[in-house]
Amino acid sequence: MQTVKVHIDTAAPDNPEASILIIYTGGTVGMVFDEEAQHLVPFNFSQIPDKVPELKQFNYLLTVISIEPVIDSSNITIADWLMLAKLIEENYNDYDGFVVLHGTDTMAYSASALSYLLENLQKPVIFTGAQVPIGLIRTDARENLITALQIAGTKAHVKCRVPEISIFFHNLLLRGNRAKKVESSHFDAFKSENYPPLAEAGIDIDFYDENILPCPLQPLKVHHQLDPNVVILKLFPGITEAVVRSILQAPGIRGVLMETFGSGNAPTSAWFLNLLREAIERGVFILNVSQCDEGRVDQGRYETSKYLLNMGVIGGADITTEAAVTKLMFVLGLNLSKEETIKLLSENLRGEISL
Ligand code: ASP
Repeated sequence: MQTVKVHIDTAAPDNPEASILIIYTGGTVGMVFDEEAQHLVPFNFSQIPDKVPELKQFNYLLTVISIEPVIDSSNITIADWLMLAKLIEENYNDYDGFVVLHGTDTMAYSASALSYLLENLQKPVIFTGAQVPIGLIRTDARENLITALQIAGTKAHVKCRVPEISIFFHNLLLRGNRAKKVESSHFDAFKSENYPPLAEAGIDIDFYDENILPCPLQPLKVHHQLDPNVVILKLFPGITEAVVRSILQAPGIRGVLMETFGSGNAPTSAWFLNLLREAIERGVFILNVSQCDEGRVDQGRYETSKYLLNMGVIGGADITTEAAVTKLMFVLGLNLSKEETIKLLSENLRGEISL
């Protein structure tokens, strides 16, 4: 992996109020229109003060690290998440906060993955991006970037303002592992149905301290492993035995996120329950996540979920699919015993579920 690093001191000759590391990974946010080629191309972030001259009004020391090549976030991989975690670890002591510029399509997955990888985070790590490229006149990149930087910089005034992985978009600061991309056309692209915002940007930035994770007492602990052997089994009426079998018996699979109906309900056909039971007996962990964006899995409430509870399917509470699939990768990557794995998958690790 290649990176390009540029320092921009917007405070000089005075001392900066805060130092922020911007990590640019790609996505719409960093695109400009290439007149010659007549299409959008990634923009060189060392020229950011030209595109966003307002940055000069901050008294910040900004460092921009661009990942080369920058990517559309549909191409993000587990290796990229581990690299981002390492980059933040290596730079952790030198900065007050971190802003990750990322494509919106998979931003909620990346923010969730990073929330597990960076344990005991005491500084803000804010993901942001844009629906309209920075090089176009109606871009939302400018507002998103400026407010994300402002929030990331508040560490200099108030200790540990938002010590967690968050997503800032449009006007909301959301917990990263609670957020979901819900819009591909409008500017308010992210929502967090099961958890209130951490902050809201209007005329002022209002922080909702009661929603923000407490500052950990332990030092940062970075994890460097995720298990890719996970799969999503999305149920729908009419799903066939052959399909369910092929998913549950896919070679090497260790974790299955089962997207169920309503409060965690699934068919009660014998073939279906037998396939699940066999998988659990082979040591596969099955996490039950609701297809509803709001509400929660409550296994045992209906007959159609009681069977799941009894055979050892793990209830995902009010977790999002994005947070659940990355939680499976993280917990399985720890290579713990069966009991410890089930315990961690059921527990609230980084504010991703309410129990
Ligand atoms: N396809 C882009 C991406 O996720 C969309 C965006 O950035 O909004 O990289």
